[in-house]
Amino acid sequence: MPSRVPPPGLVHRSGTTGSSVIREALALTNRPDVLSFAGGLPASELLDIEGLRTAYDHALTEHPLRALQYSVTDGDPRLRELLADRLTQRGLSVPPDRLVITTGAQQALALLATALLKPGDTVAVEEPTYLAALQCFGYAGARVISVRTDDDGIDIDALAHVVERDRPRLLYLVPDFQNPTGRTLALARREALARLAETKGFWIIEDDPYGELRFHGARLPWVTAQEGAHDRSVLVGSLSKILAPGLRLGWICAPPALRQACVLAKQAADLHSSTVDQAAAAHYLGTHDIDARLDHARALYRDRCAAMLTALPGALPLGSTWSRPDGGMFLWAKLPEGHDTGALLPRAVDHGVAYVPGAPFFAGPPDPTTLRLSFASHGLQDIEEGMRRLGKAFT
Ligand code: PMP
Repeated sequence: MPSRVPPPGLVHRSGTTGSSVIREALALTNRPDVLSFAGGLPASELLDIEGLRTAYDHALTEHPLRALQYSVTDGDPRLRELLADRLTQRGLSVPPDRLVITTGAQQALALLATALLKPGDTVAVEEPTYLAALQCFGYAGARVISVRTDDDGIDIDALAHVVERDRPRLLYLVPDFQNPTGRTLALARREALARLAETKGFWIIEDDPYGELRFHGARLPWVTAQEGAHDRSVLVGSLSKILAPGLRLGWICAPPALRQACVLAKQAADLHSSTVDQAAAAHYLGTHDIDARLDHARALYRDRCAAMLTALPGALPLGSTWSRPDGGMFLWAKLPEGHDTGALLPRAVDHGVAYVPGAPFFAGPPDPTTLRLSFASHGLQDIEEGMRRLGKAFT
């Protein structure tokens, strides 16, 4: 009998450890006794089940081949046209052929990492930042450097320092209602950021899944729309928070050469995103008043956010601070020094409430006093009750 030789081991590239803490926390939402403010799920009542059923029916009845056959890698032309029109209306004038449809914004990040990063390259990110972006850059073998932030988003002086010292190839940021903090990048900083990228030469990935969910104040122009940024800034968008995350549809809007590199990377990854999902989404966007639906979503999230903000002083220990989001789905809290939100989570779950500890959102040394709360998925009474439980768990 020849001896058995084991296959080579697995590659451990992700910078973050094990399975996502968020997924583990999400598992708790299955327990009926736990009110979970951990996940980033859009409010279920906003999902237009009937409208999407009709859109799928239409796609399969009217255009069965378009819906069921293999198709082009860069995405359904009608969907790209509708999305490009929407971007143009919102201040970034682009033709449809600047877009690539992706399998969620998450795939957009993976494709951009493939197109832009070699192992060992440096990526700058906000501190804290979106956990799954950290995983994505970790899998690309990048060295991820975090940049200080405050209530107005990334600190431009701190970024300039990191740019001089570490020469990042790209900066990843979520300027509107950031995940996890809910903060928004101030206008002057958007302009300064574009100037810095122009004079120092680095890519910007502007990840904007939440921008349409503004419920206070006036919309700010994208970094990608700033003068000087057009050939080095990439806008990433998603239908997850506007329509339904289960569709798994997002997009990249990139300068031509980078767009082409993403198309090739996508060919290797999955040939193209689901044709039936793209056709249904195109039909839906082309036949519904999305702005009216979004007005409803914004009002719902505004009220939920307000309810959480009202309840927080009673829920968090004295001396805690928290963000006051102008939109999106999350807020970020910081407990007084000495608290450890990771260690406190099991106690919170025992009291029937869950949140995400802040630590996994840090590329650098984590701040254990922080946590993320989503105000999107629960109604007002549950928010009040959840915050009451949190108050008990934290005393
Ligand atoms: N970027 C950010 C900042 C996110 O919060 C999310 C989803 N939570 C994504 C990207 C991925 O979104 P999608 O569902 O489009 O893949």
